[in-house]
Amino acid sequence: MSIARLAEIVRHNQPCVVLTGAGVSTESGIPDFRSPTGIWARFDPLEYGSIEAFRADPARVWSFYAPRFSMLTEAEPNDAHRALAELERRGLVRAVVTQNIDLLHERAGSRDVVEVHGSIRSASCPGCALRVPLADVLPLLPVPPCPECGTVLKPDVVFFGELLPEEAIDRAVELARSAGVLLVAGSSLEVYPVAGLPEETLAAGGRLAIVNRGPTPFDGRADVRIDASAGETLRALARALGG
Ligand code: NAD
Repeated sequence: MSIARLAEIVRHNQPCVVLTGAGVSTESGIPDFRSPTGIWARFDPLEYGSIEAFRADPARVWSFYAPRFSMLTEAEPNDAHRALAELERRGLVRAVVTQNIDLLHERAGSRDVVEVHGSIRSASCPGCALRVPLADVLPLLPVPPCPECGTVLKPDVVFFGELLPEEAIDRAVELARSAGVLLVAGSSLEVYPVAGLPEETLAAGGRLAIVNRGPTPFDGRADVRIDASAGETLRALARALGG
């Protein structure tokens, strides 16, 4: 019933822009942040995920990131990533705005992906600004030094206390405002400024659809709200839309 409703909303409220969070990648074996089994249940975000912590002790922060880098590069896209890529190919999804850093949307075939929290695609040198691609960072783990000057590299992901990449967040806001429907998948919508994107869509007269296990602050304002697996639901959505 709700899949049929979701399909109807996506079909009749184009363009559809998708906003994804860590919940679309849990079915690829990557833990999310805020579930009881999530990463921050075990690691203090300020100790491992903040820019102050990185500046104070980059080796300590890499002791957290190095195993994650290896895990993220070994993970494979799941049904949620594949369904969204397929819907984009069929002209039913305009773009995916993602908070994930894992590159799985791109690897599943999505072409227009806006990475608002950066990605593991590269790391940069805080000393000389050299940008080092992921393939060259991996052999340097666990504490990768800059190949030019030896300073410890910083992953090109947004740490707590850092600003979001301006171009990406501007584009995300523009997409949210232009959306006939914003389809949120696998996000608790608790991390700002990304969590403000549904507000942009609603204020511009667009609709909101949410596929997430567990509550979000926007549930009461969504036209359709499905509390179930992102992989199963998005695969069913692609099928309901005639795939
Ligand atoms: P979050 O952890 O706050 O929320 C994830 C939500 O997804 C939760 O409500 C959870 O219950 C739900 N969920 C988990 N598995 C699901 C599934 N299979 N189907 C449907 N829902 C599911 O994540 P968020 O909102 O993305 O928080 C933002 C932060 O998390 C960002 O900073 C992002 O960079 C970071 N993050 C990214 C990754 C990744 O790249 N894969 C992993 C962990 C965290």
